[in-house]
Amino acid sequence: MTDRVRVIAIDGPAASGKTTVAQRLAAQLGYLFFDTGVMYRAVTVAALARGIAPSDEAAVTTLAESISIDVRPPSVDDGRMYDVLAEGEDVTWRIRSAEVDRHVSEISAYRGVRQAMTRRQREIGLRGDVVMVGRDIGTVVLPEADLKIYLDASVDARAQRRHRELQERGEPADYDEIRAAMAARDAYDSTRALAPLKPATDAVTLDTTHLTVDEVVARALALASS
Ligand code: C5P
Repeated sequence: MTDRVRVIAIDGPAASGKTTVAQRLAAQLGYLFFDTGVMYRAVTVAALARGIAPSDEAAVTTLAESISIDVRPPSVDDGRMYDVLAEGEDVTWRIRSAEVDRHVSEISAYRGVRQAMTRRQREIGLRGDVVMVGRDIGTVVLPEADLKIYLDASVDARAQRRHRELQERGEPADYDEIRAAMAARDAYDSTRALAPLKPATDAVTLDTTHLTVDEVVARALALASS
């Protein structure tokens, strides 16, 4: 009998479908879904709320090392997938603001911030029965993952998805601005010195540009059961 796939890593650029696909895959398999991006976003929200400049690496790092971040099942029926708590405060929607989008990549590039977050993520991942999503899960956080998937899609397809999401939530959404901000964030994430966004050498890459969510989930499930 082949060993069961217990640790699944899904990486890829912004709005490539990682979260939706991973959440459905985890539900099908009865595994924990863990979105590591919320941790970097929570540190960013907390830094901004405390008046810490995102460029202040030492202060941001001290904050990242001590902050309590919790991800729990949703307590409010407002379209959220989970509650995100930073120091006990509900920041679930605040972590999705355009201001956080603008600063999260700078903050997540700091060595001390990455070390603090990676340590916590590994602890959760090594318990197994988990689908973990991010930029560096297959390469750095859980290089021993049983299955690594890298989801990609054209920048236009991804910007359209994000634009639609914001419109559905009734938030202001300018397509050109969204596309430019997303391209800038991807460029920053892929070229940073530490844990840059890239597929692990043993990852299976799926281009989701012309695939529906159902199709991507079906492929991911097939990979998890092969
Ligand atoms: O996935 P999401 O868009 O929420 O991630 C927000 C940001 O957090 C990314 O643009 C990236 O800068 C950072 N991130 C990271 N490593 C991860 C997950 C997210 O650097 N594993």
